[in-house]
Amino acid sequence: MIYNGVDFDTYFKNYPDKNGYFGKYGGVYIEPELKAAMAEITESYFTICKSRKFISDLRRIRKEFQGRPTPISHLERLSASLGNVQLYAKREDLNHSGAHKLNHCMGEALLAKYMGKKKVIAETGAGQHGVALATAAAYFGLECDIYMGSVDIKKQAPNVARMKILGANVVEVTHGLATLKEAVDAAFEAYAREYKDSIYCIGSVLGPHPFPMMVRDFQSVVGIEAREQFVEMTGELPDAVVACVGGGSNAAGMFAGFLNDPVDIYGIEPLGRGPKLGDHAASLMYGEEGIMHGFNSIMLKDEKGEPAPVYSVASGLDYPSSGPEHAFLHDLGRVKYDVIDDEETIDAFFRLSRMEGIIPAIESAHAVAYGIKLAKQMGTGSVLINLSGRGDKDMDYVIENYGIRDIK
Ligand SMILES: *Cc1c(COP(=O)(O)O)cnc(C)c1O
Repeated sequence: MIYNGVDFDTYFKNYPDKNGYFGKYGGVYIEPELKAAMAEITESYFTICKSRKFISDLRRIRKEFQGRPTPISHLERLSASLGNVQLYAKREDLNHSGAHKLNHCMGEALLAKYMGKKKVIAETGAGQHGVALATAAAYFGLECDIYMGSVDIKKQAPNVARMKILGANVVEVTHGLATLKEAVDAAFEAYAREYKDSIYCIGSVLGPHPFPMMVRDFQSVVGIEAREQFVEMTGELPDAVVACVGGGSNAAGMFAGFLNDPVDIYGIEPLGRGPKLGDHAASLMYGEEGIMHGFNSIMLKDEKGEPAPVYSVASGLDYPSSGPEHAFLHDLGRVKYDVIDDEETIDAFFRLSRMEGIIPAIESAHAVAYGIKLAKQMGTGSVLINLSGRGDKDMDYVIENYGIRDIK
């Protein structure tokens, strides 16, 4: 399928190009000594991860450890309450450790093992990526250093406990605002010192090349499985596919299965409290081109041109940019990006819990809310929602801030 001049039959061969660009987005904007480390990872990725042995190892791990394939559930009661459109959910909440993040962490850690590295290094904000990587490190017997701001360490006590139980070393970052941005800087500094024995594992389709490509490729298992399962269940393709977009990894994985199909694709960003800068994290909707954290993409900037403060009820979505591939697909128009605010998200959170017996992550509830909206607009057809994770981690927060909501 050719869309606005881009041939999606050969898309994954051509995007990113060999320098890591999706159109004008992506690239490698880092210090020279780290460029060598990135080149080593890129080179290893193309030789090791395309080898038959790596592919069969990863396939076995996905099945025997992660519990893949995750199912697709037909959301029958929710659909019936809205009209004739049928809603379906790809159940990444049932992936081991409760979200899609383990899909790329297992891939990255297996690559580390093949490369002979002893350690994986990463930053974490809310702790979800740290927990997924600590899980992968434990499985492979790798050391694991997770950099985390002291503010986040206090806020995310259960995830800090999980990481420690899994054997990870949680490194406290105390300078600046002591949150995600400082943790990213500290983790990169550590990596620059230690790259001979370690590998950096990013949490989404972000950062310098090859990470946006590598994470997308490891996450594409979601979309590939989903397409096959959906066709088997219903005899046809879905009319629409929906996923939430923070950095964009669960969306990139899901979309990878459907980019070359006549399917409408929607990426949903968090509108938070509203469209004023600082009240949301809808970078593709309201942002502009810029470079941060080693790559060129669309981002939210403050008046000085620095990454702007962002907010969302979902801590996994509050990042001031999105992966370069999303910026590219946005400009191309192949994926439509739209927003859902906190209120609509919380409503969808309770609606899915009450009507289907599935408590979604607040991040995933953004996609559910948009699926509900689409169902009301479309009248007929089908919508496949990527349910990126389960809501156990959000329980206390929701009860404390919203109480138990009645659904109308
Ligand atoms: C981290 C997270 C997200 C956001 O990350 P993406 O890279 O945008 O997918 C979404 N859902 C869940 C459950 C998460 O843990």
